[in-house]
Amino acid sequence: MSNRTFTMIKPDATEKGHTGAILEKINAAGFRIAAVKMVHLSKEKAGEFYAVHKERPFYGELVEFMSRGPITAAILEKENAVEDFRKLIGATNPAQAAEGTIRKLYAASVGENAVHGSDSDENARIEGDFFFSKLEQF
Ligand code: ATP
Ligand code: MG
Repeated sequence: MSNRTFTMIKPDATEKGHTGAILEKINAAGFRIAAVKMVHLSKEKAGEFYAVHKERPFYGELVEFMSRGPITAAILEKENAVEDFRKLIGATNPAQAAEGTIRKLYAASVGENAVHGSDSDENARIEGDFFFSKLEQF
């Protein structure tokens, strides 16, 4: 079990000014921020990040959305980080997300769902390394 996960505060939540509140919730849930920065992804970079979804019908929409404005990328540390963070953000579709979760509080729809959370230890490492060099991970 790894103790790190990777997150992005997506363009919808950035536009609405929720970045600070979401980082506060992440800290309050016991995660330590091991890396953080704001980035405006190009379409090419957004497409590369979500390449696993290339064949899905929503891929084009997802790439447009993720490149429409800045995101905040972060590496988070806590025991059982991947699973606990997925619990903290809630279901992909905010209509199905549990009360008190970040998506329940801040997401508008299944597409514009405020935050990303890695789905495995391996992907957490790959995704963290996509945004941060070794010198930027603390
Ligand atoms: P993420 O990987 O962003 O944490 P997730 O793991 O909960 O989300 P995935 O199945 O990996 O969900 O989908 C990746 C992203 O693609 C979703 O967060 C959402 O932004 C978008 N997406 C997923 N399903 C749909 C859909 N049916 N319509 C539009 N966008 C979707
Ligand atoms: Mg996913």
